[in-house]
Amino acid sequence: MICPRCDSKNVDLLTKAPVDDAWEVYICETCCFSWRSTESDDIKDPEKYDKRFKIDSSKISSLDKIPPIPELIKKKD
Ligand SMILES: [Zn+2]
Repeated sequence: MICPRCDSKNVDLLTKAPVDDAWEVYICETCCFSWRSTESDDIKDPEKYDKRFKIDSSKISSLDKIPPIPELIKKKD
């Protein structure tokens, strides 16, 4: 399986429906995108997923962090 948002193959089964195995939820270990197995192709299919919201996995580390992480306080000797 391939992540629809970042095209990573690092996809895991996150959970299953509590009743009747009605669906499964998958999660991408690379970009944290998760989706349910019963969702439509524009969510599940990497080709049909809205290109404006796709992510290049190599650029994740350069994304803004919200909120910013403050500097560690340095102890005085
Ligand atoms: Zn992903």
